Amino acid sequence: MAYRCPACGRAILSRRNKLCGFCGEPLPAESLFTTAEVEAIEAAERERALARKLREEGRAKAAAKREAEFGGGSSGG
Ligand SMILES: [Zn+2]
Repeated sequence: MAYRCPACGRAILSRRNKLCGFCGEPLPAESLFTTAEVEAIEAAERERALARKLREEGRAKAAAKREAEFGGGSSGG
């Protein structure tokens, strides 16, 4: 179900924005997320960001380990 701006008729791209991204008119409350919905979305985003951070830290650690094992004592021959 696509919500549209009542002022310009364009599809609402982000229901977290209170204003239309095209014409800047305030959007009606029924086309926006409720506070609870926004909170749920933000909680999910925080979880995703945390998971990504952990993954990147793990990868950095693995790369550092590889470098310590293989890249450390290169004696130019
Ligand atoms: Zn609009």
